[in-house]
Amino acid sequence: MHIDVQLTPQRIPETLPVTGPAGATGAWVEFRGVVRGEENGAPITALDYEAYPEMAVREMRRLLTELAERHPCLAVKVIHRVGEIPVGETAIYVGVAGRHRAGAFALLAAFMDRLKQDVPIWKRGGRGAEARPDVSRPAAASSSGRRPALLSLEDARALVESRCPTLPAERVALADACGRVLRETVCAAEDWPAVDKSTRDGYAVRADDPAESFRVVDTLHAADWKPRQLPPGEAVRVATGASLPCEGLRVLMQEDVERLGDHIRMLARDDSANVRRRGEEVRRGEALLAPGTRLNGGALALLATAGCAAPPVSPRLRVLHFTTGDEIVPPAQMPQPGQIRDSNSFLIRGLLQRWPCVVEHAHLRENFAAAQADINARRSAVESASVILVSGGASVGDKDFTRPLLEWLGFEIVFSQVNLRPGKPLIFGVNAARVAFGLPGNPLSHFVCFHAFVAAALGRLTGESPAPFQSAMLGTPLDDAASPRETLWPARWEGHGDAAQVRPLAWASSGDVTSLARANALLRVPAHTERLAAGTRVDFLPADF
Ligand code: AMP
Ligand code: MG
Repeated sequence: MHIDVQLTPQRIPETLPVTGPAGATGAWVEFRGVVRGEENGAPITALDYEAYPEMAVREMRRLLTELAERHPCLAVKVIHRVGEIPVGETAIYVGVAGRHRAGAFALLAAFMDRLKQDVPIWKRGGRGAEARPDVSRPAAASSSGRRPALLSLEDARALVESRCPTLPAERVALADACGRVLRETVCAAEDWPAVDKSTRDGYAVRADDPAESFRVVDTLHAADWKPRQLPPGEAVRVATGASLPCEGLRVLMQEDVERLGDHIRMLARDDSANVRRRGEEVRRGEALLAPGTRLNGGALALLATAGCAAPPVSPRLRVLHFTTGDEIVPPAQMPQPGQIRDSNSFLIRGLLQRWPCVVEHAHLRENFAAAQADINARRSAVESASVILVSGGASVGDKDFTRPLLEWLGFEIVFSQVNLRPGKPLIFGVNAARVAFGLPGNPLSHFVCFHAFVAAALGRLTGESPAPFQSAMLGTPLDDAASPRETLWPARWEGHGDAAQVRPLAWASSGDVTSLARANALLRVPAHTERLAAGTRVDFLPADF
């Protein structure tokens, strides 16, 4: 598909030439988003759009390429205007050329749906008598200043999700598939059970046979397969699990009959058929597991039953973890004044247990050239890693070199700060199919950034939907929480659904480790919240692995 994406501060022409291969185009659909004279209920004369230009263009191209797989079309042209756009003028133009009307409409609709969510373009606010900042993308950019404000948690998560590729699937033996993410729908190749089966030890007779006594004509064990019709008055001795010789039978329980030679006589009448009918559990062709399913023991049992011995799954991730900081010593060592024991390596290793992966760890000396040499000594690990995590050095101090180090490694820095507490100096970068995070060194910041961002990235890489925020009742009040930044507060979560409750844990600084050992959730506290009363509905992110 031919893709043409432009960002422009210029007016978008009223008519645009139809592009797309001559003779093949059966439909050309156009959409124009025009600035209205009102924004958030207030009259305006113009709207201001701001973008991270390179990222926005790349994201739109990526999105269109992805969507074209589902909705193949011939050509698409997108022009997004940025800067000040007067009322009545076009902010976005999308034209799609397709072979058929349905495909062109589908691509257009899917693109418009994803545009707002995935592409870093936002309304900065309206110009007019009562211009107000736009609240549809909170904190993505300041409504007044030139410098974009800090990215919100929401926007940063959306960027991580949209910039992480999904790694190609590989087929592995079931024994090696636990914890991997299934990448294709697996369907049943036959009915389950494939034939009617007895659920009892007893005697199979015709379901419509009114007789009280029967002649026993055969015996069937679980492994036997002897199809035959059963005339009235005849019975077949069957074991639990045995395949019945034909359909339309029921099984008299052994306890309910009396056996006399090769005859049986019914002692009691039981209404139940005692039969698992063909296709009762699963119909041939029925989907058993959907792509995106993380394979646990039960799912592996299902795949084994379906004969799917080598399912297509996410690859084992290769994670390279670097710690930084000359003050860091191994846990077995007694820290001298100024030193601190390394806890982040173990936190990261523990959290990564959820994903089948190979983790390699190394410590980098706290000097850019020395760190480059440390990395050069591990070039092959760097090249083969799908994820690089760097602990510490993510801020802007003299010795904080994570950002330049990642840039030196060829990573494009997507963002380097988030409006979040703890975890503000978080770096996220991408380099082809590889992603990197520079995590602020404090253990609690590590924990928060891992659950809020790294886990989302690992989800994307493996093909699993990242865990969303959930809703619960606050179990105990939260006082003195006010911060100008949104906070992810370590907490304990109990119960599910409507009964779910979250209790905030005490923490004084992002250096706290004690709350880490108890936390299984992160409570979302909006910026400038003084107090949350017990019983308030709150959002939380499960952090229970
Ligand atoms: P940084 O992000 O490098 O400024 O580090 C912030 C704080 O986290 C400092 O107090 C560091 O000593 C601490 N820190 C950095 N790395 C680790 C680690 N691996 N384990 C425990 N604490 C760390
Ligand atoms: Mg440091």
